[in-house]
Amino acid sequence: MRFLLTALLFLPLLLADQNPGWKKPFPAHRIAGNIYYVGTEDLACFLITNPEGHILINTGLADSTPLLRQSIEKLGFQLKDVKILLNMQAHFDHVAAMEEVRKLTGAKVYATEADAPIMEDGGHSDPAFGPEAYFTPIHVDRRIKDGEVIKLGATALTVITTPGHSRGSVTYTMTVDDNGRKRAVAFANMGTVVMPLLGNPKYPNIAADLEQSFAKQQRMKPEIWVAAHASQYDMEKKVKAGSFVDPQGYKAAIDQYEKSFHQQLAQAKAKAGSSH
Ligand SMILES: [Zn+2]
Repeated sequence: MRFLLTALLFLPLLLADQNPGWKKPFPAHRIAGNIYYVGTEDLACFLITNPEGHILINTGLADSTPLLRQSIEKLGFQLKDVKILLNMQAHFDHVAAMEEVRKLTGAKVYATEADAPIMEDGGHSDPAFGPEAYFTPIHVDRRIKDGEVIKLGATALTVITTPGHSRGSVTYTMTVDDNGRKRAVAFANMGTVVMPLLGNPKYPNIAADLEQSFAKQQRMKPEIWVAAHASQYDMEKKVKAGSFVDPQGYKAAIDQYEKSFHQQLAQAKAKAGSSH
């Protein structure tokens, strides 16, 4: 979920039916080399293909399995060849279909140590949301750590934990062969704020986590970047332009989300100060 803290009051109104782009089909397409887009108009799902099997990052809403399958088959691949399932944040709009996909494919689910418990209890321990955001609990096979490299065939995906949006939200990086040219790619989870930054008993370290996550993302220099929501990286514009190479856009996006976080933190501090 990408909306800001103030929108939390209206959360039930903001779920899937109020976000038509979450459900609307979008043509599957190649991002670069062996990286493809298989999500909807706004909920990004990424397929990284190899002869040895595929990695699928994010699965979308609970009813998205048929669309995912169609998108993967249109590209000439098979859902059953997905061997590893990953997510970028353990929120229902990205993982609600994951248990179904796991059962259909027999793929192994990897999740960060901080998001794994939330995946396994279907969102019940999520510090930000309640029953409106529960999903089918997901069996997690492996807990992944910051700096770990996930390998499948020729693909090596580095785990960079970027907590704050969710307790275990995560960014992945890899190098892609883009028509003979090696390019750095980031699947960057954007640090949007969906819970209180100060005095948050369910997530006391949230502000410090976001600070560190933005610092990590500022050090990264991807030539190609994507995010969990297609709108966050101007997906449609890039599809039309026929290129996802956008190093300046990455820097601008991280700057923008970091600035927004700092503004919200300043507001929270001002409010906390005035209430004493
Ligand atoms: Zn989210």
